[in-house]
Amino acid sequence: MMRQYELVERVRRYNPHADEVLLNKAYVYAMRAHGSQKRASGDPYFSHPLEVAAILTELRLDDATIVAAVLHDTIEDTASTREEIDQIFGAEIGQLVDGLTKIKKLDLVSKRAEQAENFRKLLLAISADVRVLLVKLADRLHNMRTLHFVPESKRRRIAEETLDIYAPLAGRMGMQSLRDEMENLSFRNLMPEAAAMIEARLADLRAKNGAVIVRIETELMAELTLRGIKADVKGREKSPYSIWRKMERKSVSFEQLSDIYGFRAIVASTDDCYRVIGVVHTKWPVVPGRFKDYISTPKQNDYRSIHTTVIGPGRQRVELQVRTRDMDDIAEIGIAAHTLYKEGRVSDAEALQRESRAYGWLRRTIELLGEGDTPEEFLEHTKLELFHDQVFCFTPKGRLIALPRGATPIDFAYAVHTDIGNKAVGARINGRIAPLLSELSNGDEVSIVTAEGQSPPSAWETLVVTGKARAAIRRATREAVRTQYAELGRQIVKRAFERAGKTFSPEKLKAALPRLARQSVDDVLAAVGRGEMFSGDVVKAIHPEFEPERASGAGAAKGEAGWFGLSKAESLVFKVPGSDEPTSLNSIPIRGLGGDLPVRFAPVGGAVPGDRIVGILTPGEGITIYPIQSPALTHFDDQPERWLDVRWDIEEEHRGLYPAQIVVSAINEPGTLGLIATLIGESGANIDHVQFVNRSPDVRDVVIDIEVRDLKHLSGILSQLKQSSVVSKVERVNG
Ligand code: MN
Repeated sequence: MMRQYELVERVRRYNPHADEVLLNKAYVYAMRAHGSQKRASGDPYFSHPLEVAAILTELRLDDATIVAAVLHDTIEDTASTREEIDQIFGAEIGQLVDGLTKIKKLDLVSKRAEQAENFRKLLLAISADVRVLLVKLADRLHNMRTLHFVPESKRRRIAEETLDIYAPLAGRMGMQSLRDEMENLSFRNLMPEAAAMIEARLADLRAKNGAVIVRIETELMAELTLRGIKADVKGREKSPYSIWRKMERKSVSFEQLSDIYGFRAIVASTDDCYRVIGVVHTKWPVVPGRFKDYISTPKQNDYRSIHTTVIGPGRQRVELQVRTRDMDDIAEIGIAAHTLYKEGRVSDAEALQRESRAYGWLRRTIELLGEGDTPEEFLEHTKLELFHDQVFCFTPKGRLIALPRGATPIDFAYAVHTDIGNKAVGARINGRIAPLLSELSNGDEVSIVTAEGQSPPSAWETLVVTGKARAAIRRATREAVRTQYAELGRQIVKRAFERAGKTFSPEKLKAALPRLARQSVDDVLAAVGRGEMFSGDVVKAIHPEFEPERASGAGAAKGEAGWFGLSKAESLVFKVPGSDEPTSLNSIPIRGLGGDLPVRFAPVGGAVPGDRIVGILTPGEGITIYPIQSPALTHFDDQPERWLDVRWDIEEEHRGLYPAQIVVSAINEPGTLGLIATLIGESGANIDHVQFVNRSPDVRDVVIDIEVRDLKHLSGILSQLKQSSVVSKVERVNG
C-alpha cells in the first residue's frame, strides 16, 4: 500500500507547490474512515482510493482532485458525512466527493446496452464538475485492474458495464490510453478465449519479426534527421481489443490484418508535423484514402494529429500519426490535459482561459454524447442536442427513462407504458410519496401507483410536457367521454323503447345500423347521448310503424310510471365532492359513468341536498342539475330524452356547501343589509352575491346567492330571516 509520503512525493513531482498538509490530512482521514474494511483481494480497503489517486497523479491533476480521489468512497461506505468533509477539506472538495457519492449509487442500477448512451449522459449530468468524472474513471480503472479478485458472478456485469459505458466515455473525453486499458481488461474478462488467441498470435509475431518495430522506428528517424527534423518516433502493437474489433468489423482473420503496428512521430511544432508528412510521402508510397488532417480540422473532442499510411521499410504497411507534444497530451489524456497542473505560476487570465477551454470541451462532449461513435460521425454532427434540457430517471427495476426537463411522474408513467399512465393515481420518488405533478430530477427513482378502472383527468393534458403523455391523455379522455355519452344514450334509448311499448335489444339495433348510417351500436348510443340523434328515430329504425312523439307537454314527460321511467336500479347517482372543494363542480362524478362529463348546478337558484333533483343533458356541454320545482325545466318538457334521473349521494362527514338563491324583502334603512348578512353568516352559510331590486321607497328586495349545507340548513335560514324585525317577506328563488 502506498505510504503517506509516497502520495505527497507523486504530487510534488509535477506540482512543487502542492498542499502537503491537505494531502496528509486526506490520507489520514480516509485511512481512519475505512478502518478495517477489506477489499475482495483481502487488501485493506484504503489501498483502493490510494491507487485511484495514484492513477490521477499520472494525469497531473490538481490537489483538490487528488484529495477527492482519496476520499471518494468515504461518504458512501463509511460513517463520514458531507458536512464533515466540507468542514475539514472545504466546500470545493466536499462537492467533488458528493458528486462521486451520487454516481456510486448508480452502480446498483442495471444498465442494458441500449441504455448505455443515456447512462453516460446521466453521469455527465450528475458530475457538474469534470474532475468528478476523472476520479470516477480512475476509480473504474482500478476496479478493472483488480477485477480478478471479485467473484466470477459479478465480474461479467462489471466488465460489460465498463465496455458499454465507461470506456466509450473515456474515449469521448479524449482519454485514449484510459480507454484502451479499460477495453482490454473488459475484453479479457468477457471473451477470455478470443483475447488469449489474439495475445498468443501477437506474441508469435513478436518472436518472428520482433525487430520490425525497432527497424521501422530507426529508419523513419534516420530519414527525418537527414532532412533536419527533430522527431521522436515510437512504434507499438495495437491493443488486443482493437485488433479483435477490426477482425469482427471487417470479417477477416488475424493473418489478413495488415496494420498490427502503429507509429507515432512527436515533433516540436505544427510546421514540423507537415514537414514530416512531406518527407514520409516522398520517401514511401502512400496508401490511398488513409490520409487525414485533424490539425487543420480538429475532432470535436479537440483531438489534433495527422494520420497517414504508407508502404514503409521492408514493404511493411506503416500507420503513422504525427503531432506535437501538446497535441499528444490531449490525445492521450484528453480532457484531463486541460485541468492538469502545469508547473510555474500561471496568470489568472491564463487559468481562466484554461478553465473555460476545459469547460467548453466538457459541454461539447456532453452535446455529442448522443451521437455516433466514429470520428467521421463526430465531425459531421453539427446538430447539437442540448443536454441540459433533459432529465434521467429510473424505474424500480433500473430501466432508465430519459425525459424533457420539467417532466412529471405522469410523463414518466406514460413513457414506461400507456396503460400505466392511464391508471396512474400516485407516485413515489426515491421511495417517498410525491404528487403526480412534482418535477422530476436527474437520478430519481420513480414508481407509479396504479388503480384499475381509472382514466386520466383531462386537465393533465395541459400539465404534462411529453407529447406521448399528451396524446395518450387526449385519447383516453375522448374514450371516456364517448363511453359516458354511450351510457347516457343507452338509458335514453331504453326509455324511448319503453315509452313506445317495446323492448330495447342491442342485437336488433345492430341489424338496423345501415338505416341509421352508423358503424356500431355504441356509435348510435353515443350519438343519442350527445343529442345528435333522436331516440325516437332509433325506435323507428327497428319498428318502422312507430311514430316518434317529438313535442309533448310536461304531463307527457312526467306522466310515466315513477320519475322519467327509470327504475331505481338504473338511476344515475349524483355524487357530490367532499367539503374540501365544494365549488369545483366539474369534478362531480356520476357513479357508473367514470366521471369526466361536466356537471353544474342550475345557473339561477342552484340546488341543495334534500331537493328532489333532475339532470338535464346538454349535448356537447354536460349535465345541469335542477331542483324539481325549477320553472326552467318546462323548457325541456318536449325533449324527454334529455332528462336524467339523478339523486344525491353525500357522505355524512364530507358535507360541502351548495348554491341556492333567496330573495328578502326588507325595510329600506341603513344597517338592514348588515343585519341580514350577519344572520346568514352566523348560521354557517356563505354569501356569494347580493343584488338590490327597489320595489317601493320604503321596501326593497335583496336577491342573495348563498351557499348552504342542505335543504334543512336553508329552511332554517329562511325562518330566522322571517322572524327578523327588518324583514317583511323571504322566499327561495328557483330559475
Ligand atoms: Mn471506489
